[in-house]
Parts: sequence; C-alpha cells; structure tokens
Amino acid sequence: MSKHVIVVGAGIVGSWCALRLAQTGARVTLIDGEREDFAAGGPSASLAAAGLLTVVGHAPLDSSGHPSMPALAHEAFDLWRARTPGRPWEDAVAFKGGVVIAADDAAADAFLAQARREGRAAQRLSAAEFRKRAGLDAQIACAVFVEEEGVADPARTLSGMAMELHALGVAVRRGVEIERVESEPVRVRTFDDASIEGDLVVLATGIMNQALMARAAPALARMRPAKGHIVPVDLAAPLPLPVRAPGFYLAPHGDGRTLLGATMEWDRYDRGVRQEAVRTLLDAVEATLPRVVKQSETELPWAGVRPMSPDGAPMIGPSGAALIAAGHSRNGWLFAPLTAEIICAYVWGEEIPARWAALSPDRFKDAP
Ligand SMILES: Cc1cc2nc3c(=O)[nH]c(=O)nc-3n(C[C@H](O)[C@H](O)[C@H](O)COP(=O)(O)OP(=O)(O)OC[C@H]3O[C@@H](n4cnc5c(N)ncnc54)[C@H](O)[C@@H]3O)c2cc1C
Repeated sequence: MSKHVIVVGAGIVGSWCALRLAQTGARVTLIDGEREDFAAGGPSASLAAAGLLTVVGHAPLDSSGHPSMPALAHEAFDLWRARTPGRPWEDAVAFKGGVVIAADDAAADAFLAQARREGRAAQRLSAAEFRKRAGLDAQIACAVFVEEEGVADPARTLSGMAMELHALGVAVRRGVEIERVESEPVRVRTFDDASIEGDLVVLATGIMNQALMARAAPALARMRPAKGHIVPVDLAAPLPLPVRAPGFYLAPHGDGRTLLGATMEWDRYDRGVRQEAVRTLLDAVEATLPRVVKQSETELPWAGVRPMSPDGAPMIGPSGAALIAAGHSRNGWLFAPLTAEIICAYVWGEEIPARWAALSPDRFKDAP
C-alpha cells in the first residue's frame, strides 16, 4: 500500500530522502521554510558546504556499539557512484579522485595504509606527481592520491534535484515553515495554522530550528551547532580534483570556481562572516602552498552551520512523533544517499540491518 510521507527540510538530506521515497512508491510532500534560491553560500548547511565526497580518513567509532564510520562512508560513496549517472544533476558531481597532503612521511604512509585496508586504490605521489595531479605549483613531498573520491557542487546539485523531484510528482512546498508535528492524526502544522496530513513525517531540518523541532522529536536536542567558514579563491589554473591538507581543503566546482574550507567553530548558530576566520584559512593554505592560492576578488566568503551529533555520525530512525534524518555533522553531503536508503527501510517497514540500526538516535538514550 502506498504511503504519504511528509519530508520537512529540503537540504541535501531531505532532498535525497524525498527522491528515494518517491522512486520506491511513496507519495511525497517536501516542505522547506526557505524560498527557492539555490545560491552557493545560501542559508542551509547544504548550500554553505563544499560538497566533498571524501571517503577515506573517517575516524572509526565502532567500539561499544557505535556506528562504523569508515564502512558507512564507503557504502554512502558507492551509492553516489551508482545513483549519479543519468540524473539531471549528474554534471554537478565529479569523481576524479582526490589528493591528500599529509603532515609528514609517517602520516602519508598511515593514510595510504588506511585507504588500502578499506579496499580503496591509493598511491603515494612524488613532488612532480603532486604538481601534475593537483595542477598546483608547489613542492609537496608527502601526498597521497585516492582514486575513489568525489565532489558535488551543492547549488547545482540541489537545483537539479529540485527539477527531478517535480518530474517525479513530489509536491514541493517552499517558503512554508513548520511549527509542530502531531501524531494523532499524523500531520504537520505551519505557523499560520495550516495543516498537512500524511502517514509519516520525516524531519530533515538541520540545526536552525532545533529547539522547535525537538519538541516533536526529542533526539534532535542532542545536536550542537558548529559554524564553518568558506572562502572562494582564485588559482592560476582550474583545480582538477579536491585537495585535503592539515587545516584546510580546496574543493573544485565544475564552473572553474574553487572553495577553501573550512573552520570548525563550536556552539555558534550565527552565519556572520568573521575576518579572523577567513584569515585562519588563508594562513593555513599559505603555509602549505605558498603563493598558490589567492582570495577571490569577485566572490565574498560565507559561513554555514553544521548539525553536529554527539559522535559525529548521523542520527537516523524514530524519535517521538517522527522519523529523523539528522546530525549529519561534517559529512551530510557524503552520507545523504545512504540516509535516504535507511529512511526508506524504516518507512516501508523493512528489517534494519545492524550497521544501519547503529545509527539510531537511541544510541544516546542513556547518555547524560
Ligand atoms: C562550511 C561547511 C562545509 C561543509 N562541507 C562538507 C563537505 O565538504 N562534505 C560533506 O559531506 N558535508 C559537508 N558539510 C556538512 C553538510 O553540509 C551538512 O551535514 C548537511 O548539509 C546537512 O544537511 P541537512 O539537509 O541535514 O541540513 P540543511 O542543509 O541545513 O537543511 C535543512 C533544511 O530544513 C529547513 N527547515 C528547518 N526547519 C524547518 C521548519 N521548521 N520548517 C520548514 N523547513 C525547515 C531549512 O530551511 C533547510 O533548508 C559542510 C558544512 C558546512 C557548514
């Protein structure tokens, strides 16, 4: 029997959930408080992000029943690989691998060993190979190339997904802010007291309305905000693939733009740009890649706010009156297609495998 699922939040997490729910036979209403405007640096964490789909380097959390981040990261990345071809937004996502600059030889070897342990093809780069791969004129002796990495251009991916959702018959309601979720009958209420009834509500609302949404789904109160600055930069030539290094990363987007990211500023909900944070990023990149990266003269820096879970892994499953798809922390772009699969499994009443059940918000229920 079909179900009417109301997904609140049209960031990358809610958009992927709506897409997969519609494809698996649900009637879907996708609601977002923001009006349609897919500009880089927009108000959601998803539009503020760099969009890196970086699969190696996730710290394991798999002791004492916590999620196994490396395994889940690979599962999510493989879904990006499998599900991107043929979509209206496929041009916005690139899978050309990634370069990681390590602090020293030992760190480069450790990273290489981790990539290989996780079954990913990777190799050490000589200084000449680094220059060729990354197209950056710098003397870097401790770098690793990982074949399986990618990057999504957030604004272009989300606007393409919005078109696909319309084509799939998803009812997209923008500029509609939800004030509460009720369970008997299941419905959401807007601030002007309109209501929309469904069979299930999925909250993919990020961090901004946390206190309000936590009234319906108490586990959302466990999240903390972490602000991050992004600085658009200019390079001598377009960057071919993402570059990560201690203290910064460079994310190339298809239109020749490159983003320098990102700071990690705990417990800040504001999105105001601080010059000090911009300076921190520019100093970090200058220390590693001297005179290679310049702040853009045409595009201003911005900041966004990440929805951090207590352990950095997403929280997916029932909480109060809703299913939540929340707390994606630093990896919401990477994890979103996997989150959508897990949400579909809950919606359709399928058995939840242990590795997915480990992401349930219940894992924190005994924590203070
Ligand atoms: C600077 C920065 C860089 C990042 N870089 C990366 C990266 O390279 N790779 C990666 O994987 N991740 C990255 N992240 C993390 C990633 O962006 C987030 O984890 C992810 O975007 C969270 O997505 P979301 O859909 O849960 O939330 P959001 O994108 O915040 O979307 C939530 C949506 O819900 C809507 N909403 C909220 N409350 C209501 C309500 N009451 N009624 C109606 N609508 C509502 C909001 O308007 C919003 O559009 C980065 C984040 C930042 C800030």
